[in-house]
Amino acid sequence: MTQTPSTGLPRPTPQLDIDTEPFWTGGKDGKLLIHRCQDCGYRVHPPTTFCPTCDGRNVIPEAVSGRGTVVSCTVNHKQWLPGLPVPYVLAFVAIEEQDDVRLVTNITHCPAEDVHIGQKVEVYFEQAADIWAPLFKPVGA
Ligand SMILES: [Zn+2]
Repeated sequence: MTQTPSTGLPRPTPQLDIDTEPFWTGGKDGKLLIHRCQDCGYRVHPPTTFCPTCDGRNVIPEAVSGRGTVVSCTVNHKQWLPGLPVPYVLAFVAIEEQDDVRLVTNITHCPAEDVHIGQKVEVYFEQAADIWAPLFKPVGA
């Protein structure tokens, strides 16, 4: 995995527990881990070990491709904090494997005004303390 410079955006540290830790730390090994029901195949996000589709409990983290599509986005131009690098893009990305698994993330590696709904993107990870935040960039960027 290519090392990429930090976006410089401050990241709140999520509370890690047995359900959420794989999602927030999979990036250490370059993997985007999404919980998946082993009985019916449904992917469950935010991560939990309960399947809302079949009521199963056999739900474990599995690596996905890391490819996705921007389904919603907005550009923040306001410098809410001193030193906050603007503009930056906040987006919902639907993973390639299942449209209703949507991650709140940033889109980087392209001008903010170029980000658009329907854009194909791929994951990379930005480490902040003990978490690896999944961020996205245009495919091939
Ligand atoms: Zn299930």
